[in-house]
Amino acid sequence: SGTVSIRNAGKTYVSRGRQVVALDDCSIDIQAGEFCAIVGPSGCGKSTLLNAIAGFDSLSAGEIVLDERVINAPGLRLRPGPDRIVVFQHDALFPWATVRENLIRAPMLQGRLSEAEALARARELLARVGLADVEGLYPGAMSSGMCRRVEMVRALLNAPRILLLDEPFRGMDALTKSATHDALLELHASTGGTVLFITHDLEEAIYLADRVLVMTSRPGRIKRAIEVDLPRPRH
Ligand code: ADP
Ligand code: ADP
Repeated sequence: SGTVSIRNAGKTYVSRGRQVVALDDCSIDIQAGEFCAIVGPSGCGKSTLLNAIAGFDSLSAGEIVLDERVINAPGLRLRPGPDRIVVFQHDALFPWATVRENLIRAPMLQGRLSEAEALARARELLARVGLADVEGLYPGAMSSGMCRRVEMVRALLNAPRILLLDEPFRGMDALTKSATHDALLELHASTGGTVLFITHDLEEAIYLADRVLVMTSRPGRIKRAIEVDLPRPRH
């Protein structure tokens, strides 16, 4: 599970009476378990596509199919859920709850694992990303890189069909970024789910992804996705 097919997806916004084509005839296939990156300049439609997969917004044309089920098409949109979790660049942990509470009390988690199972799994994943000692901390006592790692762990505790990442490393200093990159690779290696992330940083995309899709824009309108097969560096 975790196969995504984006078929001729289009999205047009109407902004102050003007039509803005944010996505035009975009087609992408993502295999189960694949770590796929989409790079492209600001404004080329990356967030629009990610938001459509996540279910935040509906398409104006085409469709998105997740494991044989149409999840987004004009007039049909599967609402956001734990099967398609997004990690953003901004903090998303509850600031009044400790890391442990953030992880095991996540509403989405309810019913999937017992609290004891969730805690055991959370500790295992935290240890893998170098955060064995933080479960009693509040998010405000941690760096943005640590918070992002906890958010990735929280997302993966829900065993999503696809983990979506919207510029999660933006604004981090080089050392933090490097640790967070490696945490994501480690989590992907140990959980094996499908990952799709968007970034404006080609070097980062090449370092992380099995496959990099380059989305280009002709001024204001035409968007294309070009597949570039690149081996992931060994480390
Ligand atoms: P990217 O993530 O690649 O920077 P976006 O998907 O955010 O690109 O935006 C694609 C285009 O759609 C841009 O021209 C942007 O200004 C426009 N756009 C995005 N969201 C909206 C919106 N809610 N209303 C109107 N235009 C939007
Ligand atoms: P949904 O419940 O699927 O979100 P909406 O009523 O929001 O349905 O939208 C129905 C369809 O019309 C969707 O495909 C959506 O993208 C499209 N749509 C909605 N608003 C606009 C708009 N301002 N410009 C272009 N397409 C739009």
